[in-house]
Amino acid sequence: AAVPPALAIRSLQVVYGGAIEAVRDVSLEVRAGQIVALLGSNGAGKSTVLKAVSGVLDAEDGEIDKGTIELFGRPIKQAGAPDIVRQGMVQVPEGRRLFATLTVEENLMAGAHTRSTAELAEARERVFRLFPRLVDKRSTVAGYLSGGEQQMVAIGRALMSRPRVLALDEPSLGLAPLVVAEIFDSVQKLRADEGVTILLVEQNASRALAICDYAYIMENGRVVLDGTGEQLRRNADVREFYLGLS
Ligand code: ATP
Repeated sequence: AAVPPALAIRSLQVVYGGAIEAVRDVSLEVRAGQIVALLGSNGAGKSTVLKAVSGVLDAEDGEIDKGTIELFGRPIKQAGAPDIVRQGMVQVPEGRRLFATLTVEENLMAGAHTRSTAELAEARERVFRLFPRLVDKRSTVAGYLSGGEQQMVAIGRALMSRPRVLALDEPSLGLAPLVVAEIFDSVQKLRADEGVTILLVEQNASRALAICDYAYIMENGRVVLDGTGEQLRRNADVREFYLGLS
């Protein structure tokens, strides 16, 4: 039998407040071990897709109107957010959302769910291996960290629950180019060293296309283009509208 994709979204339609169609007929697939990018300008509907996948739409009066979402072949549509995390899908929300008055270590522990002390210690050490910069800052309050370090803590916190699929919402937002490069390197390392499957939502199309296996571009709630990173980097429209090249 064919191996089911890590994440499969089919004909997804999401409505806010019973009226605003933020996502229309979106289908996408992320195979196990892939990095897949979801690109598009502000308001295209990228975050809404992630929220649907993570089961956190209700908080914003949104709902899945049509379509299905499967994680490793199992439907998640009816599952609540904690259940989806247990099934292996974890999201790093846009804006990091750390506990500003807690330390790096305390923030990491906040991402851990019902595991043994030994497993927690091991998960924490993995995070410090991936982000060596955080080692010296483990007792620093998150509010005092740089934007890049905060993003590392946010990703680290998500890793504490050992996701099989990690969804990152705009990890490069507001960061200096060198820091963005560092974050994207860690994303590649995560996939290479630990086989974590990654869905990457980005406005930084050029960086995202450079590291992804496959990408989808959204406009006005719909997928308008998709292809390998390489194909899209050669596409004339992508070059003009998303990469600012001619
Ligand atoms: P951004 O990069 O700004 O997050 P995006 O591509 O992720 O953009 P979404 O945030 O998913 O886009 O928004 C898609 C559409 O849904 C937009 O028109 C937005 O105004 C609308 N929208 C988003 N959240 C809500 C909400 N809670 N209530 C009503 N409309 C919403």
